[in-house]
Amino acid sequence: MSEHKIESIRVHRILIPAKAVHSHGSGDVAGINVVILEITTDTGITGWGEASPWPVFTGTSEGNAAVLHVHLRPHLIGQDPVQVERHMTMADKVVVGHPEAKAALEMALLDITGKISGLSVSELVGGRMRDDMGMSFSIANPDFSADLDDIAAMWDDGVRIFKFKTGFAGHKFDLMRCERMREIYGDEADLRIDYNQGLPAYDAVRCIRDLEAFRPTFVEQPVKMHERDVLAHIAHVIDTPIMADESVFDPKGALYGAQIRIADIYSLKIMKSGGIRRALEVAAIARAAGIEIYGGCMFETGLAHAAGAHLMAAVPDLVLQCEFYMATYYAQEDILTDPFPVRNGRVHVPQGPGLGVAVDPDRLARYSVCSPLG
Ligand SMILES: [Mg+2]
Repeated sequence: MSEHKIESIRVHRILIPAKAVHSHGSGDVAGINVVILEITTDTGITGWGEASPWPVFTGTSEGNAAVLHVHLRPHLIGQDPVQVERHMTMADKVVVGHPEAKAALEMALLDITGKISGLSVSELVGGRMRDDMGMSFSIANPDFSADLDDIAAMWDDGVRIFKFKTGFAGHKFDLMRCERMREIYGDEADLRIDYNQGLPAYDAVRCIRDLEAFRPTFVEQPVKMHERDVLAHIAHVIDTPIMADESVFDPKGALYGAQIRIADIYSLKIMKSGGIRRALEVAAIARAAGIEIYGGCMFETGLAHAAGAHLMAAVPDLVLQCEFYMATYYAQEDILTDPFPVRNGRVHVPQGPGLGVAVDPDRLARYSVCSPLG
């Protein structure tokens, strides 16, 4: 047991406007609508967490704020923050689902534990296999000419990985954009495809075969999340690797996915698995099954990106890199005191104890949509 006790828990709801609307097979997103969790101990240590839901995918910010403030807070006040698994097991017993709220809780507890021990979060969960990783940007602006301008600027920044969000404006639009990117950037660009469930199951194979002409590294979640047998069929018949995102959330989903060989790759996300350590369990199941992993994210601030970077630093193998681009290239502003570390197209894992990042209180207040709870 540590000598620290949880003294206060505050729940902030914030909305940060985006630089541009991003369109997906499952709808448009125009901002970062998240819950920021602030846990302080009686010894004056503050840990930060973030729940980053997407209503059509995982849940809502209103629901996650209520889970943290109403349902979990009474079980945490006065408790030892270092006993992370005990609190996460409690959270699963108290409320079903809401993995984003659970990810926020674990993030804040690990941040505190890291600050107490002097270790970074990646070191707390097993140690760093890498200090930086390639960063993918999502091409999702319905105005493709505006996207091309942004891509040109990012290319100058060193970004070489681009993921097309497809299935929201028709197959011809998707083919045109892929063709244009290959014309401009040739094979130096690492192009990926993400349908976000946007293809009808009956015609998915034919659409994906058309796009294979542009040599995508993978095709992500072409069909609906519940169409797991269809996804497994697609992975079986298509040569390009297929990724499961919406169809695989947590270790139980990862195990079922491995049993039916649902995909060649899993997108790891702390907001789906309910935290970093559960995501490492997903990664372990994938590794045992010969399924590759990828560092995915939701619409997040640099705070959740930092947690994601610590997760992806700790996995044994990482060939497909990550997509923690929101704080740098999507949000109009971030809430961290120092910019989330992206340099030369690569995400750098934050240094220092805990998450290794700090929240700016003025920015937190500026983007708050209501008074904090707690
Ligand atoms: Mg995805």
